[in-house]
Amino acid sequence: MTESDNQGARIERADVVIVGGGLVGSALALALSSLPLRIVVVESQPRESVLQAPKPAEQVSDFEPRVSALTEGTRRLLEDLGAWSSVEAGRCCPYRHMHVWDAEGTGAIHFEAAELQMTHLGHIVENRFVVKALLERALERPQVTWLDAEQVRQWRPLKANGAAVMLRDGRWLEASLVVGADGANSRIRQWAGLPTREWDYDQQAIVCTVELSASHEYTAWQRFMTSGPVAYLPLRNEAGSDRFASIVWSQDVAEASRLMNLDEGEFRSELGLALEHRLGEVVAISQRYAIPLRQRHARDYVRPGVALVGDAAHTIHPLAGQGVNLGFADVAVLADEIRRGLERDLPPGHMAVLRRYQRRRKVENLSLMAAMEGFKQLFGRDELPLRWLRNTGMRWLDGQHMLKNRVAAEAMGVTHPLPRFGPLES
Ligand SMILES: Cc1cc2nc3c(=O)[nH]c(=O)nc-3n(C[C@H](O)[C@H](O)[C@H](O)COP(=O)(O)OP(=O)(O)OC[C@H]3O[C@@H](n4cnc5c(N)ncnc54)[C@H](O)[C@@H]3O)c2cc1C
Repeated sequence: MTESDNQGARIERADVVIVGGGLVGSALALALSSLPLRIVVVESQPRESVLQAPKPAEQVSDFEPRVSALTEGTRRLLEDLGAWSSVEAGRCCPYRHMHVWDAEGTGAIHFEAAELQMTHLGHIVENRFVVKALLERALERPQVTWLDAEQVRQWRPLKANGAAVMLRDGRWLEASLVVGADGANSRIRQWAGLPTREWDYDQQAIVCTVELSASHEYTAWQRFMTSGPVAYLPLRNEAGSDRFASIVWSQDVAEASRLMNLDEGEFRSELGLALEHRLGEVVAISQRYAIPLRQRHARDYVRPGVALVGDAAHTIHPLAGQGVNLGFADVAVLADEIRRGLERDLPPGHMAVLRRYQRRRKVENLSLMAAMEGFKQLFGRDELPLRWLRNTGMRWLDGQHMLKNRVAAEAMGVTHPLPRFGPLES
């Protein structure tokens, strides 16, 4: 339906407008596409750049530096949305073990998929394969209109419930619900006046891809130093090589800047040392990126006609590898609440619907963020009593198989399963 406003500019209507078609926004479009709703996604990336098939990876520079550790909960959601088979067919590396240890002592924990009667603990995937798989599916859905190479420039609330966003050409799109899936620096969050609680970690994450002289053993490796954790996340290329890994090395700002300024050979040897050469030598390394780390949490995720999902609502330290998994859980719960609302004749932007979404997600997001903060504090301090506490604690937990498996199941997102959708009918 198209109307004109007082200035004669065209206004179009949808039920839900999703601003941002990244990992989380595209998953939400698909999750809502099984409901009787008209959905519009506005995404600034041109679709061709997302749909382009990456060339087979033969060297470190062929991998995208941004990868995610997808939990089993997320894998099931992507399966329901019909996107998992494409993700799996891309460069997707299952990991069967996770080894975490303290640089300052003897504390270590080893998680094992077999102990949980699982074939894997999770999967490491380059973000572009997930976005591509979701976009391909979304473009097949008649309920979804995908406006790419487009940008939302303004937002306004509507008197009669809902909200509107202005596109580049001045056109307004009205909807019962506008969803901010526009990432950590969300403009929707700012325009809608949803304040955040945020602070700097005073750390940067150095992100790159490496080639190793030994197999990564399908294990996610993480070593905690007082200056920050270093993680080696296993990757697999099309030829099945098990010698590539994605590095996320979080360090205090001064140390990160020193590491970024090292020449390639020096950085490779420091990186090998940081993991105590457990995976042999680092034989090749891609370009390095330093990403400032900031914790953010919107005090409210919703207001009438507006909801935030994914990084727009919360960003956390990458040490848990949970960031996007929390975003996918937002998607599952928001879609579930919208479905329940429709059953009661409530439109998607109704506060009764949105408040339920916020209640269900905020508690979980906040408790994980608090746990991560505690973890970071515990491992970021050098005092002897704290070193003793964490090393003794890790050794103790490693010996408590039932408890350890519960911790692993929680981190895998299988303890409290997400609402299921599908499979989506084609
Ligand atoms: C170093 C590092 C390592 C990480 N590792 C992990 C990990 O191992 N596991 C994990 O789960 N998470 C990880 N994360 C977090 C993860 O990358 C994010 O949680 C995830 O990318 C958030 O997805 P999103 O869709 O919410 O936001 P984004 O990926 O930021 O997507 C936002 C989208 O909105 C679009 N957009 C923005 N503004 C507009 C506008 N005005 N108009 C139109 N479009 C717009 C953008 O083009 C973009 O496509 C990591 C993060 C960092 C920094």
